Amino acid sequence: MIRLKNEKQIDGIRKSCKLLSAMFRELVPRVKPGVSTADLDSWAHNWITKAGGRPSFLGYGDKKNPFPGALCVSINEEVIHGIPSPRKIMPGDLVSIDCGINLDGFISDQAITVEAGTVSAAAHTLNRVTRECLAAGLAAAKAGDRLLQISRAVEERARQAGYGIVTQYGGHGVGFGVHEDPHVPNVPKGANPRLSNGLVIAVEPMITEGGGEVRLLDDCWTVVTADNSLAAHWEHTLAVCGGAVEVLTEEIVW
Ligand code: MG
Ligand code: MG
Repeated sequence: MIRLKNEKQIDGIRKSCKLLSAMFRELVPRVKPGVSTADLDSWAHNWITKAGGRPSFLGYGDKKNPFPGALCVSINEEVIHGIPSPRKIMPGDLVSIDCGINLDGFISDQAITVEAGTVSAAAHTLNRVTRECLAAGLAAAKAGDRLLQISRAVEERARQAGYGIVTQYGGHGVGFGVHEDPHVPNVPKGANPRLSNGLVIAVEPMITEGGGEVRLLDDCWTVVTADNSLAAHWEHTLAVCGGAVEVLTEEIVW
């Protein structure tokens, strides 16, 4: 069931999103070779807590195997949900970082893929095109129109470039919870609700150099490409309010 938000609630989610983007801007320069993903995670946890928020991914999921970090850090063939660890970032790694903040009960969601040191031309192009997939999806989001317009635009940009699209995971409603209805797929299949006032969703293309098939590692969190090809992941949270689409999270420029 889709839970629409009123303007006051959207304002709370907007504040949470701005805080999350501010965190990402300070995080990006720290994503470099030699730093462990656990170091990034503890830095982000401290930053969010000091700012008065709570990392919304920490403790999320099944009680028997809750997510143990503030950040998901997924490197190279890891697509999403990588667990922070002592693993050190290497030169040339594609480092996808996903984070959410709970600020006064309002939840935000954003992901970026950072190039550590100098990456291969192929990795750089995959990353750029994945970011373009997100931009195309957001540009296709029109208030009063249908959700799968977004999916269609994401798919079209990825296919033009000959890339794979992960279809087992995708975007989602967000704001009161980490994952809410509706599902926001990266190909135009499934439920196609209207982009009505009060809808808040995360749009998040996950694009691969090879096929779009994925598998889950034994930690029951990390999702990797089935063919071990590189993946990139970009995400924004948007709201439909006052008859228009507003992207609530901010572009991270570096
Ligand atoms: Mg996310
Ligand atoms: Mg998300």
